[in-house]
Amino acid sequence: MAFVLGDHGPFADSKPGFRARTEQQQLATAIDTCIAESNILIGEAGTGVGKTFAYLVPALTCGKRVIISTGTRHLQDQLFHTDLPVVRRTLGRHPRVALLKGRANYVCKRRVERAMRNPALREPALSAQLAQIRNWSDQTSTGDISEVLDVPESSPVWGHVTSNDDFCSDHSPEDLGGCFVNKARKRAMDATIVVVNHHLFCADLALKEGSFGEILPDADVVVIDEAHQLPDTAAVFFGRRLSSRQLFDLARDSQAEFLTEAPDVTEIRDRSAALEKATRDFRLSLGIDQRRDAWAVVESKSAVSSALTHLQETLELLFEPLDIASVRGKGLESCRRRCLAHMEVLESYTDQRDEDYIHWFETYRTGFSLNLTPQNVAKPFSNALSQLKCSWVFTSATLAVNGSFEHFQNQLGIEDASEIQVDSPFDYKKNALLYLPANMPQPQQPGYDAAVLRVAAEVVDASEGRCFILFTSHRALELAAAEMRRSCRFPVLVQGQMPKRELVDAFQSMGNAVLLGTSSFWEGVDVRGSALSSVIIDKLPFASPGDPVLQARINGLKKNGINAFAEYQLPKAVLTLKQGVGRLIRDVNDRGVMVICDPRLQTKDYGSTFLNSLPGMRAVQKPHSVVQFFRQGDTAS
Ligand code: SF4
Repeated sequence: MAFVLGDHGPFADSKPGFRARTEQQQLATAIDTCIAESNILIGEAGTGVGKTFAYLVPALTCGKRVIISTGTRHLQDQLFHTDLPVVRRTLGRHPRVALLKGRANYVCKRRVERAMRNPALREPALSAQLAQIRNWSDQTSTGDISEVLDVPESSPVWGHVTSNDDFCSDHSPEDLGGCFVNKARKRAMDATIVVVNHHLFCADLALKEGSFGEILPDADVVVIDEAHQLPDTAAVFFGRRLSSRQLFDLARDSQAEFLTEAPDVTEIRDRSAALEKATRDFRLSLGIDQRRDAWAVVESKSAVSSALTHLQETLELLFEPLDIASVRGKGLESCRRRCLAHMEVLESYTDQRDEDYIHWFETYRTGFSLNLTPQNVAKPFSNALSQLKCSWVFTSATLAVNGSFEHFQNQLGIEDASEIQVDSPFDYKKNALLYLPANMPQPQQPGYDAAVLRVAAEVVDASEGRCFILFTSHRALELAAAEMRRSCRFPVLVQGQMPKRELVDAFQSMGNAVLLGTSSFWEGVDVRGSALSSVIIDKLPFASPGDPVLQARINGLKKNGINAFAEYQLPKAVLTLKQGVGRLIRDVNDRGVMVICDPRLQTKDYGSTFLNSLPGMRAVQKPHSVVQFFRQGDTAS
């Protein structure tokens, strides 16, 4: 590995701009050993190590079947279409490779034809998009909807034309020849290297709807990139959920199938209508506010419990005629199956004895979801993991807290694993400054937001815009956005004013803008060069204690005599802060100032856990040090 990724290896010869990095070679060697020994490896690689190549090289040279899972579909596309071809070409290794996404990422031609007849899509803008999708679906070889750049991801048309489990069951196997999902699945089964994303990976691991259930069993090696995201994604797939949307869909589909397959069974029509009403009534019983709360908070309210009981009974009543009529057609059989699945979720939801799951709900303007999230993902994940006899590589830029992987291991129940931690090769001491402003009030004190804004104004001025301001709450973001739009002399971009990728592109091309964002901007944003020269973080990113899942986990840990703050809240916040700090220096020549306004970093005992987990930067407390830092940069350039 050291030679391949070294100064005289094939990458140095053929890849323009390639720099040999000891850290990358160390990580690649550790991954190679892990694969050879069928081991488990947890590896943290600081920004700039080049971890993608560090796992692609051993993955391509080991001659085994490898599944690589990335955090998002965007990263999945980038890995498959950009990085993987470079490594294959450079190494001269050409094993079969395949990209596999969840069903909803593929167009279904049968659904396109059905959508063409749907009166709800006759509105000119939607029907133009539909026509475009139909044309493309006749020409594409993959059916992957990311190829269609002209129809926005948010278009409602996609929901009508992409593959959907419920619709697929209403299908004869002979038609599968033209099915893009089926083709993608086959390509994946025949391939040596398969690139998936965490959602599909977890669905497959938990054998959930939407999964294929047949990709993982044959793997010799599984590489999980962006592994810090895995515990949260796994919690979704090892949990259960029922939403008002699913209930409305079931009611509407049952009515449609009644008309075509069993027009004499009028109970289906009447009971579907009753289900729609019961779903609406249950939403009303939860109050008009949009909220996210523990089920225990509302379950004893008589209006809520009687509306839920009524919803359950209505679902059971609909099941009876669906069960009888399901032999008449695949559409009704599909409705019967879904109705039964929804009844099972509701039954589990109302069974509060199951302490392994957190019961919580969320309400939207006109809808709701009822959720069962595992108290702890470690048990189901480690069970699933132990059934797959293969090598496992978990890697990310943010896995270690204060040099330890214990938090990550505890979350996923990983017991025996090799470890490697390689620091960023960037010169943080020289190129970065950590500004911890003096005399800040405590975050809970009045005047804190105003103090953050004063610091931000100074830093933005010194760095001539070119700044990200990352907030821990929407409230603080909105407050700052209003003030900065009024007073800032540089262009101000605010999360939500356009899609994330467009906003980041605009920021980069303006060259002197200030971008304000919350959680989704703390990671996955890569702005290289001088367009981003300072990052300001308003508070240490402790998750909101009002969140029902977090609160239940804290209570669960306390009940077991575990210090929830030290073992759970603090490590989670440290990893989030590391992600935020990681936005600043993205390349070897980047320079910039990292500002963390929260005084707890210096006044609390736990502050050192944060500081010890960050790249080694020179810390300063006075604003003139920031001004000086930028002046030095100007002189140097
Ligand atoms: S299986 Fe049939 S219904 Fe499902 S995506 Fe493929 S073509 Fe469409």
